[in-house]
Amino acid sequence: MPEPKSPERKGLVLVVCAPSGTGKSTLTARLREEFPDIGFSVSYTTRPPREGERDGEHYHFVSRDRFIAMRSRGEFCEWAEVHDNFYGTATQPVRDMLEAGSDVLFDIDVQGAMQLRRTFPEGVYAFLLPPSREELLRRLKGRGTDSPEAVERRMENARGELERAGSFDFWVVNDEVERAYQEFRSVYLAGKARPMQYEGMLDELLEEWNDG
Ligand code: ADP
Repeated sequence: MPEPKSPERKGLVLVVCAPSGTGKSTLTARLREEFPDIGFSVSYTTRPPREGERDGEHYHFVSRDRFIAMRSRGEFCEWAEVHDNFYGTATQPVRDMLEAGSDVLFDIDVQGAMQLRRTFPEGVYAFLLPPSREELLRRLKGRGTDSPEAVERRMENARGELERAGSFDFWVVNDEVERAYQEFRSVYLAGKARPMQYEGMLDELLEEWNDG
């Protein structure tokens, strides 16, 4: 008897957005822990490396000229200018990972996600919501990484991000972390189960009927 073979699947683009403080880092860290084969794309940036950051690992650190040249060649599937620095994702390395069967997780802001959709329309676009305004405020304060002014700014930004939550494919409300994680991993697994991920598999399966 031949070994039953597992179908080859294409890699999945999984895009995750959330207002800051919702728990995106918490939930994506758990997903990576459970599924260590999920790849991630290393962004390009023109900002100088911080202490301990390594080129090609945390970011590809490039000059402004190089970034602009890449951008004009259309090599980025999303880019943004933040505080006078450019940040961007190069398309080709992502395509290579997908082709090799790796899933690629993007932890990105809402504007970046909207840009990614143009290049990767077949991706899964997930939005994480806080259960309430009060709870988001509590988490931002509880995290203790932001000044009161920064917390206020993040709360105001949250409104704008939530207003665009309707353009995402899936929502996960991060109320209780265990429950939310179970739902989040289901979104990921459901994305992988769509027929479009099984490129050519059905044809091969049906071939077996022709051959048989
Ligand atoms: P983000 O990456 O979205 O900015 P974090 O993952 O840093 O958010 O989470 C913000 C804060 O909320 C952290 O202190 C984290 O431990 C906490 N947190 C995350 N998820 C929950 C949850 N479901 N319930 C309560 N606190 C949470």
